[in-house]
Amino acid sequence: MIYLDNAATSFPKPEGVSARMKEYMDAIGAPVNRSVYARAQETGLVTLQLRERLARILRFPGPATQVLLTSGATAALNQAIFGFLRPGDHCLVSAMEHNAVMRPLRMLADRGVSFDRIPCGPDGRLDPAGIEPLLRPETRLLVMAHASNVSGTVQDAQAVGRICRERGVAFVLDAAQTAGHYPVDFQAFGLSALAVPGHKGLMGPSGIGALLVTAEFAAQLTPLLAGGTGSASDSEYLPPYLPDRFESGTPNLPGIFGWERALQYIEETGVETLRRHEDALTARFLAALEGAPGVRVCGPADCRGRVGVVSVDFPGRDTAQLAERLELEYGILTRCGLHCAPSAHKTLGTFPGGTVRFSFGAFNTEEDADAAARAVRALAQT
Ligand code: PMP
Repeated sequence: MIYLDNAATSFPKPEGVSARMKEYMDAIGAPVNRSVYARAQETGLVTLQLRERLARILRFPGPATQVLLTSGATAALNQAIFGFLRPGDHCLVSAMEHNAVMRPLRMLADRGVSFDRIPCGPDGRLDPAGIEPLLRPETRLLVMAHASNVSGTVQDAQAVGRICRERGVAFVLDAAQTAGHYPVDFQAFGLSALAVPGHKGLMGPSGIGALLVTAEFAAQLTPLLAGGTGSASDSEYLPPYLPDRFESGTPNLPGIFGWERALQYIEETGVETLRRHEDALTARFLAALEGAPGVRVCGPADCRGRVGVVSVDFPGRDTAQLAERLELEYGILTRCGLHCAPSAHKTLGTFPGGTVRFSFGAFNTEEDADAAARAVRALAQT
């Protein structure tokens, strides 16, 4: 089997991740932030190490207390969007967003929040010059996917961040497809908040993620959940301090242990090394598909400005049937359809038919890329 669905979730995980989760379940089993016995303190330490590793990997200058743990990127984006926008506000998004951004914004329309899409080219690229004409006095937030989960197109987050800073607009980056795959620099991008999932390029388990926030952004954010935090238990109000204010309820502790171990692997390997490996595989796959009859590769023509996510358009063909044949005849696992991102597919010209998406990860090989390219060429003919 050749696993090329890393944009959905990375597989396999680095050695030691599942063992660490099992160790927590079988031998530790203590809560965090709630008890004083030694094993509970170990849980607290691992949780702190997780926040610190995330801050280092994502170049986050703030204290670890501003790394808020969530149940995933979707939860982080929901917290940022629902928690920040108020009736009357206007929000900007790219034309390449995932439904983790678009569905909250559609729900907020009922509450008097409006949005506009910043146009992107047919390769998915956003021109930062397109932001200025859409800004209004009531524009408070810009949310953008750092890289598209459909075409892999990477946006110029630094240029967008500069405009947001100049115009006093908060900037939230969805790094679901870049964190762990491609350098993310909270400080250089001038972010207000950054949402990441645990289970994609950061190679942890699913059911965990994070929202990293500046103090200024957090001060304007309403928590979506209220409950026990293990702190300030004399009060029926949420504590004002972070991360507790945004972390009600017992968190995903096996997930914390597993993710912390995965981030150790990422720090030891280095995001630049992972990027070079995935970039080389993507370049090889793209080169092998050049001129292939009956298919169109979406996104940028070369590897500059893309991560290892490649959507292949087989015009007029049923992508579900093609993905099924890829598994049954070639042992290749991909994702077909619209990838929870109708806006991106409309921008790329692949709506409503969709595409077959091939996404590379840390453990794929050159043979995987070659086999995938051969399979695409063969499927396009039959
Ligand atoms: N944004 C993007 C660009 C994504 O690709 C995804 C996952 N497909 C998400 C957000 C949501 O991530 P999760 O499903 O892990 O919450």
